[in-house]
Amino acid sequence: MTMIAHNLELIHKQIIDAAKASKRSIDEICLIAVSKFQTIDAIKEAVVAGQRHFGENYCQEALIKIEALPKEELIWHFIGQIQRNKTQAIAQHFHWVHTVDSRLIAQRLNRQRPIALPPLNICIQINIDEEVNKAGIAPQEEALLTLAEEIQQLPALKLRGIMIIPQETSNTEKIQQAFQQAQRLFSILQQHYPEIDTLSMGMSADFKLAIQHGATMLRIGTAIFGKRERKTC
Ligand SMILES: *Cc1c(COP(=O)(O)O)cnc(C)c1O
Repeated sequence: MTMIAHNLELIHKQIIDAAKASKRSIDEICLIAVSKFQTIDAIKEAVVAGQRHFGENYCQEALIKIEALPKEELIWHFIGQIQRNKTQAIAQHFHWVHTVDSRLIAQRLNRQRPIALPPLNICIQINIDEEVNKAGIAPQEEALLTLAEEIQQLPALKLRGIMIIPQETSNTEKIQQAFQQAQRLFSILQQHYPEIDTLSMGMSADFKLAIQHGATMLRIGTAIFGKRERKTC
């Protein structure tokens, strides 16, 4: 068994345990393998081990991988900051976008989504800790509902939920507060749009805590593939 297959098996066990402890069904928790800076061979190892959802942050890097891997089988999630000149490539090649935080970006994705493809699944990114250099809308009900309504009116997009990245800290209590706040905003959004089903949060270091707070999509990189070689794009 490869290291990646081994790591995936371990994470699946941990997800099952965390879900049980929170009396949640594992059917509502999806694992996205975050493959930024990882090689095509590493992704293939994960595919062989049964992994189907992959997350990428950089468009150019992602397109090379999407081209090189079996199209039918894999589901690609864009989880990086969206540059305006990349929306067309994102709309053409991805199944999900987790980082929509403005009407302008939503409108571009809607316009550029090919008609032949099903609607693009969208999560609204919320800047949950109001960090200066982080993308996302303000963590306020009004900001969230305003953007949600705008996205709902765009036929080539399908609003699925929200996404957060808590502030980097070793303070578990702070991370927990961010997850609680996200859970609260998620439930408000669900009250307005009952079909909303996605709370995208939880990474290698904090996914068990995220599961306790209702996460439905985990974005995990390091714990699957090992440490990333940071390269300049
Ligand atoms: C890199 C990244 C992850 C994965 O982080 P790990 O700590 O390696 O699990 C998850 N979400 C986003 C948005 C990322 O950029």
